[in-house]
Amino acid sequence: MNKPADTAALKQLDRAHHLHPFTDLHAYAEQGGRIVNRAEHIYIHDTDGNTMLDGMSGLWCCNLGYSQKQIVEAVYRQLQELPYYNNFFKCSNQPAVELATMLSEVTPGQFKHVFFTNSGSEANDTNIRLVHRYYDLLGKPEKKLIISRKNAYHGSTIAAGSLGGMAPMHKQVIGLDYIHHINQPHWFENGGDMSPEDYGVQVARELEAKIDELGEDKVAAFIAEPVQGAGGVIIPPSTYWPEVQRICDERDILLIADEVICGFGRTGKWWGSETYGMKPHLMTFAKAVTNGYMPLGGVMVGDKVADVLLAGGGEFAHGLTYSGHPAACAAGIATLNVLKETNIIETSATEVAPHFQRRLREFESHPVVGQVRGQGMFAAVELVKDKGSRERLAPESAGAVFCRDSANKNGLMVRQTGDAMIMAPPLVCSTGEIDILIEKLGIALDETAAHYG
Ligand code: PLP
Repeated sequence: MNKPADTAALKQLDRAHHLHPFTDLHAYAEQGGRIVNRAEHIYIHDTDGNTMLDGMSGLWCCNLGYSQKQIVEAVYRQLQELPYYNNFFKCSNQPAVELATMLSEVTPGQFKHVFFTNSGSEANDTNIRLVHRYYDLLGKPEKKLIISRKNAYHGSTIAAGSLGGMAPMHKQVIGLDYIHHINQPHWFENGGDMSPEDYGVQVARELEAKIDELGEDKVAAFIAEPVQGAGGVIIPPSTYWPEVQRICDERDILLIADEVICGFGRTGKWWGSETYGMKPHLMTFAKAVTNGYMPLGGVMVGDKVADVLLAGGGEFAHGLTYSGHPAACAAGIATLNVLKETNIIETSATEVAPHFQRRLREFESHPVVGQVRGQGMFAAVELVKDKGSRERLAPESAGAVFCRDSANKNGLMVRQTGDAMIMAPPLVCSTGEIDILIEKLGIALDETAAHYG
């Protein structure tokens, strides 16, 4: 099937000229990888003729799958009409205006304004710029410190990487000294004998302790993903977000929800913040805003911050050439239209996601599975050697790497983070397609158990 004659040549050129993100560059230059050349619905195809069910929605972005013609056509039409103009110097463009308006309608009531970027990383950089500007304008220039969490992922620019808490990234770059980290709410990893509820409160209170340590007059904001995605789909205990919210409310700390993965229906509601009862002042989005078809990100700016920025005080000295790019915004408008017209968030939350979560829990009794966790169309299966002690299957996550490779070989695209298999299938999956995903994952788990048994 569709196997171009020049696959080998393409792979050779890829190895020779293309440096890949988050990749062992030496190993890739020697071994090469998979070249994906076609996709439809929830399936991707590569130049070797393999077809895979995409259990990751690309990189957590193609929530509506790969066959959304309405989005493709909207981009094409926009490129013919106005392929580019900037939003600097008192100029705007119609798709940017329309998308800003639509986003204010689908986000919680406190959000009426948006600042556009091209990516989630830039949006998180923008959060820092907004927060610092906000406190400067309020006459509190000493409020500059930002608290984040270990093992969080907020992007890969210097600032976003510093906000994130990924140890391998921090090893390779000097982080910004005004960003501080507390522990993540990872009960399976760190909760020991505590109940998830008690652990959730305890780990949330690390925020309060950190504010006390750094000084409330110096701490500006706390940033977090409602559910940590790249860190391993870490579903917080039910007590965690209410306690964090109490602390932010009492301590004059801005709450930034990074919704880059959770946004646009991943956890069963439009926003992860809604699923977990958070009331953020700023909200980062990217990825699924265009269904991944065009690069676009941004920050929803809540009234508390926007009112201060809009009250005067001069220029906000921040912007990107492609902030509010007309073709990217056209993709965003079309994506929101599909989401609204098809009601897919509600359908997947009430029909497909419960089936997905129920079927995944069948693996709780599997010999190499220590925990199944998930919310909506978002899940992780944690691999262990010993269920009681939670001893890992093999050192350096080798068990999960084996399982991921086995799933890939069997036509299922899933990801491995630490010792967990992580999944975020498109919301447009049917229950029958979820059954296929489960069957393929089951084969990979069996092969892993046989290999390490
Ligand atoms: N924030 C979160 C929660 C993410 O998962 C990501 C990317 O995976 C980012 C930010 C960075 O987004 P981008 O890769 O578009 O810069």
